[in-house]
Amino acid sequence: GALAACSSNDDNNSGDSGNTSSSDNGGSKSGKIALLLPESKTARYEAQDKPLFTAKVKELAPNATVLYSNADQDASKQQQQAEAALSQGADVLVLDPVDGKAAASIVNEAKQQNVPVVAYDRLIDGGQISYYVTFDNEQVGVEQGKALVAALQKSDPDKKGGIIMINGSPTDNNATLFKKGAHSVLDDSGYKILAEYDTPDWSPDKAQSWMESQVTKFSGQISGVYAANDGTAGGAIAAMKGANVSPWPPVTGQDAELAAVQRIVAGQQYMTIYKSYKQEAENAAQAAVDLLNDKTPTGQSDPTDGVPTTLLPVQAVTVDKIKDSIIKDGFYTVDQICTSD
Ligand code: BGC
Repeated sequence: GALAACSSNDDNNSGDSGNTSSSDNGGSKSGKIALLLPESKTARYEAQDKPLFTAKVKELAPNATVLYSNADQDASKQQQQAEAALSQGADVLVLDPVDGKAAASIVNEAKQQNVPVVAYDRLIDGGQISYYVTFDNEQVGVEQGKALVAALQKSDPDKKGGIIMINGSPTDNNATLFKKGAHSVLDDSGYKILAEYDTPDWSPDKAQSWMESQVTKFSGQISGVYAANDGTAGGAIAAMKGANVSPWPPVTGQDAELAAVQRIVAGQQYMTIYKSYKQEAENAAQAAVDLLNDKTPTGQSDPTDGVPTTLLPVQAVTVDKIKDSIIKDGFYTVDQICTSD
């Protein structure tokens, strides 16, 4: 049943293995590694990526320091933060760009100072980066689309209603890939796409206010909602709650944010995408430490534009899968999910 995840007490905390690339830990240099993350409205950056990355750097290079900054989804602020890191003597930049194209100028400035750049999660479009670690982002969209269609085949088998699509930020290459993957499934599904929106800054508030207008415009016609991540899903759900939408449509998401997993258990959100931030952060930490020690990091997947790349797998999580993914990995405990705020 819907509460299956909350009726079990065996909470398996065995973590995943994380990174598989190897490096010699001995003799690691002291030095500075800058971690530049894009925003803080999505919980993963402060709650997962930052602490997991910092802990792995500490383990691999006890004498190295992590310089951390978060750009709050402001590309010029990120530019300044990168310049500040360079002037503080950063030896390596690990950059998750607010704006993938604008970030090329950060890469060029770093290059002038012989500082290598690792692209983290989002691609940097232009400039010479040394390594890229991310997830299979197009597959994220495919999994979201497939889950939504499977839900709609039950709730609207005659295809009477249509889908509202809420995509991510147009300056994030990942958002383009999520959208592409989702369209590859939804466009052939037989369900009409009623309207589509690219959410500036991935802002949950902007997703919510756009959704408020769509709920009025397409009253009685919305049978499914594609939301690219859990933040925008939260905005869409708030808009629909406010308008007492009924019947309640399935809503997709991504990131396995705690609030989203709780909404899945409560039946308000249909699914999310679970990505192991531990694997991603630890992989990036390894690459950064390799670069600090003048070693070339090696990717585990096909190179992106000649850059060594690692693409990590993604997993769709509906209510019946929470136990075997999120809980099994120790991402959250049953208590965290089942305790209401
Ligand atoms: C990340 C997602 C995140 C989104 C908003 C994307 O680039 O891959 O995990 O939800 O940005 O920050």
